[in-house]
Amino acid sequence: MNLEENNRTGIVLILSGPSGSGKSTLYKKAFEQVSGFEFSVSCTTRTPRPGEIHGKDYYFVSKERFHELIQENAFAEYAEVHGNCYGTLKSELYRRIDRGIDVLLDIDVQGAAQIRAECVQDLKLRKACEFVFLSPPSYQELERRLRSRGTEEESVILRRLENARTEMAQWRLYDYLILNDSLEKAVQDFIAMIRTFRASSRRLLKGPVHES
Ligand code: 5GP
Repeated sequence: MNLEENNRTGIVLILSGPSGSGKSTLYKKAFEQVSGFEFSVSCTTRTPRPGEIHGKDYYFVSKERFHELIQENAFAEYAEVHGNCYGTLKSELYRRIDRGIDVLLDIDVQGAAQIRAECVQDLKLRKACEFVFLSPPSYQELERRLRSRGTEEESVILRRLENARTEMAQWRLYDYLILNDSLEKAVQDFIAMIRTFRASSRRLLKGPVHES
């Protein structure tokens, strides 16, 4: 049985969780062990952090360009998060679903809610989407992680901590939860989820056994 190659449509894996919950560490570690996932590069009006690369981490755009993209209906979802605009381009998603390519979206709870709402009328998207929420073990630990990053000013850290409570309140809207108390365990849980998503019959194009 070949579930991996050319016999299914792609997964859109939506990963949300408060800033500092460890989303990027989680998927970077998981993708060292599991291949085949592409990363949806979002547009943002935020300024790049040291080491971030345009076109790889984000498309860093001006506020004017971001608003043009909204007018052009280019976004599958967009939201203002911690005072900056972020959006997922439709072009990052739909071409991959049809070609059976799996894609990961690291987006906030507002963006995930927009995709969830779109799924009600868009069957192709509904089949593709899996919603996963990553939770830190506690607010104290979240604060410690945000501070240890050392890249943000105090005002930015405080804003992200405040927003974390609103984001945490939405965990029940997600189908799957991961608790990031031990990174190694969280990575293994995430990999197990990916394997389960890849075995789902709902994205299969043909049956598992064919007449030869
Ligand atoms: P950061 O500024 O730390 O890279 O990201 C801040 C937050 O914005 C994170 O929670 C991240 O998930 C979210 N985010 C990143 N890209 C997008 C996007 O395209 N859409 C939405 N709605 N949120 C995003």
